[in-house]
Amino acid sequence: MAGAVSNENLIVERESSILVKGRQRKNRLKCDADSIAGCVSQRACVYCGARVVLNPVTDAIHLVHGPIGCASYTWDIRGSLSSGSELYRNSFSTDLKENDVIFGSEKKLARAIDELVQKYRAELVFVYATCVVGVIGDDLEAVCKNAAIKHGIRVIPVQSSGFIGNKSAGYRAACDALLRLIEPPGGVKSRKKTLNYLGDFNLAGEAWIITDYLRQIGVEVNVAFTGDSNYHNLKKAPEASLNIIQCAGSMAYLARRMEELYGIPSLQVSFLGLEDTSASLRKIAAFFNDAGMMKLTEKLIERETAAVRPQIERYREILSGKKAAVYVGGGFKAISLIKQFREIGIDVVMVGTQTGREEDYRTLHDLADDGTVILDDANPSELERFMIEKGAHLLVGGVKERPLAYKLGVAFIDHNHNRKHPLSGYVGAVNFAREVYSTVCSPVWKYARGIGGGIYDAGNNSIPIG
Ligand code: SF4
Repeated sequence: MAGAVSNENLIVERESSILVKGRQRKNRLKCDADSIAGCVSQRACVYCGARVVLNPVTDAIHLVHGPIGCASYTWDIRGSLSSGSELYRNSFSTDLKENDVIFGSEKKLARAIDELVQKYRAELVFVYATCVVGVIGDDLEAVCKNAAIKHGIRVIPVQSSGFIGNKSAGYRAACDALLRLIEPPGGVKSRKKTLNYLGDFNLAGEAWIITDYLRQIGVEVNVAFTGDSNYHNLKKAPEASLNIIQCAGSMAYLARRMEELYGIPSLQVSFLGLEDTSASLRKIAAFFNDAGMMKLTEKLIERETAAVRPQIERYREILSGKKAAVYVGGGFKAISLIKQFREIGIDVVMVGTQTGREEDYRTLHDLADDGTVILDDANPSELERFMIEKGAHLLVGGVKERPLAYKLGVAFIDHNHNRKHPLSGYVGAVNFAREVYSTVCSPVWKYARGIGGGIYDAGNNSIPIG
């Protein structure tokens, strides 16, 4: 059965969101749309989308206006790192109860802001709207405005209640909140050879790795959105002469608005895998059109690639012929992962995203091998079915996909949450290969009772390697 793909038992309305390369036209895939009622989408909610983007702002108070359950999305789930304030590691909630829903909760919100500002002395508060706030119609704008005047700080509402759309609407709500923050009071002075790094949330210090590469080629990172950012450096964003975008799903909108408002052009980059990291550095150097910078870039690429290539080759020898399934948040990551898996000899047999855009899926289609299943906004049943049908040895996903893989007895890598080691840049490429090796070649799969445990035999490759 491995390799075949059937349409049997697919939810009819979902058929246009799934295609098999070589079997259907590439532009027929439906994406960037709301989830179909009745499907258990793997997508996170609007508020979660907003929180992903804003939570790495380290010195802000992140106040979730809603029932306590919404606040369970905390720093711990993502683990972005800070070089300064640790305030962002707290999760604050107005803890709405039945009475608040019936009589309104604006006063409770105002009291919560007062208490938090007095206790933590922050200059910036983000107030996140959740579903229930959208229903009862609290006037977040008014409460935040009054609190900002009262305390002389910035209090910014994040309009992320659940009914305004899907996770992408949450990204947009977060970007709108950031735009309110960075709006310059007067004229903007652009500084040459500086850039803003959009869509890196500094998980396991990844933004620091890329900042260091850029420094070595003569480019200064003005501000990262939003990994290890803070109130003061975010406000300087209009000074950069370029925006580079890593996670386009969450940040393409912000880049577009900054081009309209401040005339800052943008480049799409990706620092996942050797190929994309080198290509992105070259792209940035080409933008600045500086011969010295281009020379430094080639030197860095040569040195870093030489340092990691032998390790990548060793993993490739062991992993060649294995098959991977990819289901991640945005398109840029899925695109880079296909290339990165090729670097270590692994074919991607299924690839999908929660919020990929049309252009992402066109690129995914061009990159994928014939027979690869490409799907948008999947549900667990589809992921399970295509992993089995295509004989995947490994699933790359986030926190919601982990139990699915383990129940199937399939190896798993969490590319989104709770990571302790970086996966970006050259060092990240080795970490990624090592993690793939550790999970795919773990002897545990020999004992797993799930479907994968019966199908796959990776145990023979369990050779300790550096
Ligand atoms: S109640 Fe709404 S905002 Fe809160 S976690 Fe659920 S979907 Fe998200």
